[in-house]
Amino acid sequence: MGRYDGRVVVVTGAAQGIGFGCASRFAEEGASVAVVDLDEAAAAAAAAKLPLQGEAKAIGIGADVSDAEAVDAAVARVVEELGGIHVLVNNAGITRDNLLFKMTEADWDLVMGVHLKGAFLMTKAAQKHFVEQKYGKILNLSSVSALGNRGQANYSAAKMGIQGFTRTLGIELGPFGINANAIGPGFIATEMTDATARRLKMEPEELRRLNAEANPVRRVGEPADIAAAAAFLCSDEASYITGQTLYVDGGAKLG
Ligand code: NAP
Repeated sequence: MGRYDGRVVVVTGAAQGIGFGCASRFAEEGASVAVVDLDEAAAAAAAAKLPLQGEAKAIGIGADVSDAEAVDAAVARVVEELGGIHVLVNNAGITRDNLLFKMTEADWDLVMGVHLKGAFLMTKAAQKHFVEQKYGKILNLSSVSALGNRGQANYSAAKMGIQGFTRTLGIELGPFGINANAIGPGFIATEMTDATARRLKMEPEELRRLNAEANPVRRVGEPADIAAAAAFLCSDEASYITGQTLYVDGGAKLG
């Protein structure tokens, strides 16, 4: 008997990284899972790898979360093919880092589009179902970068915006049996941080080592660290927790 037996969980950006880690954890705990990502083939391949239990099913859906039509179609497909929707994890994300004076308007708009507009559109599409059934869990991916990070004016603003969005969802949707929380990961070893290393002309291993050395718990995070927190925050055990951001960062921002 898993905590997510009979539940349908949607995770955006789940073809890899933190999203795939979360999708795997929800599947292990009994959920049916929709993997939403830009490329439908990659989403379907990830869905096929999930450790499903019993009668649970998984589907892969290609959709750009910043495109309203694609989002509405994706959520409709989830309900049609998996029989409902109970948990939404807004995880899809990109970086377009640069110092402010070099950051282009396009890079600002892209980052806002995926993180903020994407979370808004997905949540709006899912909440119709959540309100109707008086049950729903929303989890948004923020970041320690919300607290400020050199070269990430766009990403940092979007990730702090996610926290305000989450608090407001908590207030508006609480009366309908819906919880909304956020996780702010620290350095998690994924393609996103490997790409950052390459941009800094470093080996990904070297960037991981430096981050591990500087971290109070002396390691970098893994997608499973975020997935464990996600599985708790979206569970019924956490039904008195809403509007919160939980930093899962090994204490990186304590100093
Ligand atoms: P990742 O490995 O780059 O995975 C992100 C996924 O999102 C990719 O599969 C990507 O597809 C997909 N995606 C990008 N734009 C999308 C869009 N418009 N619509 C649908 N899917 C889209 O990143 P990650 O490290 O797992 O990060 C996941 C989340 O955690 C992000 O919100 C990120 O900001 C946040 N986060 C990560 C870290 C970290 O250290 N890794 C720290 C704090 C917060 P493509 O590959 O095709 O682009």
